[in-house]
Formats: sequence, structure tokens, C-alpha cells
Amino acid sequence: MATDSTLPPGHTSLGFDPDALREKYRRERDKRLRTDGNEQYVRITGDLAGFLDDPYVAPGFTREALDEEAEVAIIGGGFSGLLMGARLREAGVESLRMIEAGGDFGGTWYWNQYPGAQCDIESYIYLPLLEELDYIPKEKYSFGPEIQKHCQRIGRHFDLYSSTSFQTRVTEIRWDEDAKRWCVSTQHGDTIRARFVCSAIGPLSRPKLPGIPGVDSFEGHAFHTSRWDYNYTGGNSEGELTELHSKRVGIIGTGATAVQCIPHVGQAAEHLYVFQRTPSSIDERGNSPTDPEWVKSLEPGWQQQRINNFSILVSGGFQEVDLVSDGWTDIIRNLSSMAGKGEDLASTPEQLAAKIELADFQKMEQIRNRVDEYVRDPVIAEALKPYYRQFCKRPCFHDGYLSTFVRPNVTLVDTQGKGVERITPRGVVVDGQEYELDCLIFATGFEVGTDYAHRSDFEIFGRNQQSLTSKWKDGVETFQGVSSRGFPNCFFMGGIQSGITPNFTELYNEQSQHIAYIIAQAIERGARSVETSESAEADWVRTIQATASSNQDFQLNCTPGYYNNEGRPGEGPGWFGGTYGGSAQEFFQIMRDWRSDGKLEGFEMS
Ligand code: NDP
Repeated sequence: MATDSTLPPGHTSLGFDPDALREKYRRERDKRLRTDGNEQYVRITGDLAGFLDDPYVAPGFTREALDEEAEVAIIGGGFSGLLMGARLREAGVESLRMIEAGGDFGGTWYWNQYPGAQCDIESYIYLPLLEELDYIPKEKYSFGPEIQKHCQRIGRHFDLYSSTSFQTRVTEIRWDEDAKRWCVSTQHGDTIRARFVCSAIGPLSRPKLPGIPGVDSFEGHAFHTSRWDYNYTGGNSEGELTELHSKRVGIIGTGATAVQCIPHVGQAAEHLYVFQRTPSSIDERGNSPTDPEWVKSLEPGWQQQRINNFSILVSGGFQEVDLVSDGWTDIIRNLSSMAGKGEDLASTPEQLAAKIELADFQKMEQIRNRVDEYVRDPVIAEALKPYYRQFCKRPCFHDGYLSTFVRPNVTLVDTQGKGVERITPRGVVVDGQEYELDCLIFATGFEVGTDYAHRSDFEIFGRNQQSLTSKWKDGVETFQGVSSRGFPNCFFMGGIQSGITPNFTELYNEQSQHIAYIIAQAIERGARSVETSESAEADWVRTIQATASSNQDFQLNCTPGYYNNEGRPGEGPGWFGGTYGGSAQEFFQIMRDWRSDGKLEGFEMS
């Protein structure tokens, strides 16, 4: 047991040895490092394409092709597309065409209808436009169906349903230089000639499968969590998976999705095998119903104030009160108390980094000790303990996950960081042992860092027929994350080269206001095209590179995952092609300041 010179007064012992822990983290990371990085995954195309079929609508939908003009086409009907639609309606844009692959609005909440789906970000800050729509969520953390209903509510409120084509996949978007319009084509043969295009495809929308030998050979029933097959399992998003009572089920993956659906499958299946490569950190969920007295106390502007408060706290800033006060802000609370409530946060960067590391160790020790409270078997408990820094991977929060591994019908198959070895027609092989299964569920996540055109499933051809893939082949290039030179009147949403916060809808809300402003200005000034200048784009890319590099050391020491380009940070486009390394609040302020001077600096209008 060690003491440490960075301990605040009154702390004589940490209860763990920081050096030993650092070494343990390194060993655990090294176990998982692999040379193929992101290439370990297979893209879902060809024979695997069935994994993308929509299980929530009747198959075989057809309709007449559209041939129309629109002021703005929005690709995607998730929160980013919906907020874009809302802000454009507010700006007075009547002529909209929204195109959505799913059968309704919802985006990630449409596709991820798996049992137990719930948002880890507090509902009062995650669900956008609560005050505008006069809606208060039922609980502190909303489940999927309530969130999906809120998406529908936004669609109705801003009259977006009448302008939306569902079950429609864009196949190509092409710039017509003479007409100064985009031509959007779809699988239904639609031709939409739009003056502006907003691509709101979502950051985690295209499911991926592990490139394990035999991944397509399983002869039982298989699906990805983002296409949950209730026809097979029975039940619904609340559970009751009665058709699994006589089934041996395997789940590959133990990320945020698996953590939520495993308790339901564990309850229902004859036997559940969970194939784990890296354990997630599981903190307390502590959900609670909304207090009507609290609702009565809310003053106008409360939601934005709460959003800002959370955003500042999770990016390391100081606030007098912690309004959300949950697992996300907990690590910052630890840090503040160790650093004396912010008084000496301005010590040297090295001292500050050491304090943050110590606070992180403490938080993760608490997470690891929590495993022992639920799981008595020391071998299983040890396998479930995460040995990495908290924000190396997405932190998870659940009150029923760990205890699932105490059930006699649930087996944790710990692959010791190696992952599943092989899939056979009968089941899954780990360390030479075959686990026979009736059903195999892939909780293996979504493409990150692959070509934009692959994730979106369509190519964008800009001026001179240049494709976005070729423009970004050596690295993503944008101005403010929303626009790329050579692609006039085209805007991107969803975190590319932007400030990042765990509360994604905060980003979408800011981005949608930013893009709506640019479009409204272009319309007002009678510009036929608006395009970022070469120098503005180059400056922004430099800003992203300069600010992102400060994070590199942290990422290098992390266990592999999509946050750090599967253990190879800086080597590929990674998470969003680089993100703004300052705080999200700083990034939003840059955008607000830019808008407030009204010069549209960095854009060329014609
Ligand atoms: P993730 O990418 O987070 O998880 C994929 C899982 O599959 C990991 O556990 C990974 O292991 C595992 N895996 C991949 N390949 C293999 C293999 N060959 N053998 C064994 N295991 C393998 O995807 P999720 O769908 O869980 O989550 C994606 C994101 O969606 C989250 O990070 C979060 O941002 C969001 N989300 C948010 C939720 C919320 O708010 N509550 C809920 C669900 C998702 P390894 O870790 O070793 O790579």
C-alpha cells in the first residue's frame, strides 16, 4: 500500500498502489493490442447484408418515385435530422424533404429497440426541446420507447412528417454546378433537386461484425442488437423474451448495448453464454421517477441551464452546483475535492495530470469494488473488473447487469482479451472449446473511422464530380465540422471535427442552429451557393490537429476501442476524424461568436 505526495491534507493512504495499478493497466492494454486495429471488423455487405434488414416494418415496401424540387434535403430522421428540421422550420423554410431509412423518426432509437435500451444521459438534458414542446420525461433516465415517442413528438410539432420519406435509402448525392443544386437519388428511384443538403446520418449508425473466421457460417438464428428480432425472441423492449425459454443463446460483446440487454436475455434464456473481450465499467444507475414538486419549481430557461451545467462539469470546468449529479459528473466531483474545490487547479500541468490520474484510479477502484458486492465467485468477479482509465471506454451504468452473472443459467466466457476465436455452424469457439448455441446475438457495435460513404451508404459527388471519399482519403477536412470545400451548400452534422460532449443532443442542437443560420443567411443574401474557403478549412484542420494531439498520450495508454482507433490513435480518421480538443462549451462559443459578427467569415458566396 502506498502513500503519495499528491494526496490532499487528511488523506494518508490511498488503499491501492498507483504504480502497480499503472503497470496492471499497461499489461491489460497490451493483451488487447492487435496489429489489424480497425480492420479486425467486417463490413456488413454481400452475403452478410441480411444483418441490416429492418425487422420493425413489413418487408417488401414499395412506392411511386418522387421527382421534386426542395429548398433543403435532410438525410436522416434521428435527433440530428429532427433538430435540423425544427430549426429550419423556425427559420421559415417551408420546402423541406427529409429522407429516413427506418420506418419512423428516431434514428438510433428507432434501430436500437433491444430489450432494456435506455439512455445513460439524464433525460432532462438529453431529450431536446422539452420546454418548447412542454414535455417532462417520466424518469431521470428514459427508456428507448419514451425517447422514440419524443422523436415522433418533434416530428409532429414541427410538421416534419408531411415532408419525410421513410423506408428510403439515399443511394447518391450529386452536385449540379449549372443549376447550383444537389440531386439526391434513392433506392425507390426518387430524384430530389435540393438547393441545400444536410447529412445527418448519426455517428454510430452502421452496425459492424467481428471479422472472426466463420462469422457467416452459423446455422442457428443470428442478429445484431440494432436489429432485434422479437419475432424470434418474443417480448418487447421491456423484456419478457418468452420464446427464449428453451434456447441456448450467445452474446458476443460487453459494451454499453450488451450491458443493457444481457439482464433480460439472462432472465429468459435456457442458458446464456456471454463472450467477453474487455469488461465495461459498471457504475450505479439509480433511476428514479420525476418528482412533480421539482417540475413545479422549474423556471423558464431551466433546460439550457441544466445542459450547460452538465457540459461544463464533464469537460472539467467548475460549477457551484452539480445539477445532474450522476456517474458522469462523479469523477469531476472526486477531482474537485482532491484539488481543494478548484482552489489550486492552476498548479503545474504535470501536477494537475497526476491529480486527475489519482482521482481516476480512485473512481475505477470503486467500480471494481462494486463488482465484488454483486459477484461472490472470485474468478468471475475478477474477470468482470475493468482495468483502464474511466474515459478510455464508454462508462456504463446499470443496477442489474453484474448480478446477472450469479444466475446458474448464465456463463461468462472470458476470452482473456483475445476475443472469440471462431464461429462454426453450431456455435462459438473460445480457446478451443465450442459452445453450442441456438441463437447468436452480435452486440459488437458500429462502424467508426471507416469512410463516410460507407457509414452513410451513399457517396457525395461535389464540384468537378469529386467524391467525398477521394476528398477525405488522406484525412477529414472541414470548416467548423459542418462544411467541406468542393461541396457547396452541403452541411454535415454529428460530431465530425467538432467539440464533443457525452450529451450528443447538445451538440446537435448547437449544430442545427449554426447550419440553419448559414442557410438562412444564404437565402436572405440571395446567394446561390455557399462554400467554405480553402484557407478557412486549412485553418480549422490545423486547429483540430493541434488541439487533438494533447489527448494522444492518454489515448495511447488506453485499452483498445473505438475511442482510440482500436489502440492506434492518430493513425486513422478515428472517432469523427479528430475532434476539437478544447471543451464542447468552448467550441460552441466559437460558433456563437462567429455567428454574432454576421460576417460569415470562411465562407464564399456566389
Ligand atoms: P461497442 O463498440 O461499445 O461494443 C462492442 C463490443 O463488442 C465490445 O465489448 C467489444 O469488445 C466486443 N467485441 C468486438 N469484437 C469482438 C470479438 N472478436 N470477440 C469478443 N468481443 C468482441 O458497441 P455498443 O453497441 O455496445 O455501444 C456503442 C455505443 O453506443 C456506446 O459506446 C455508446 O456511445 C452508445 N450506446 C449508448 C447507450 C446509452 O446511452 N445507454 C446504450 C448503448 C449504446 P472490446 O471492448 O474488447 O472491443
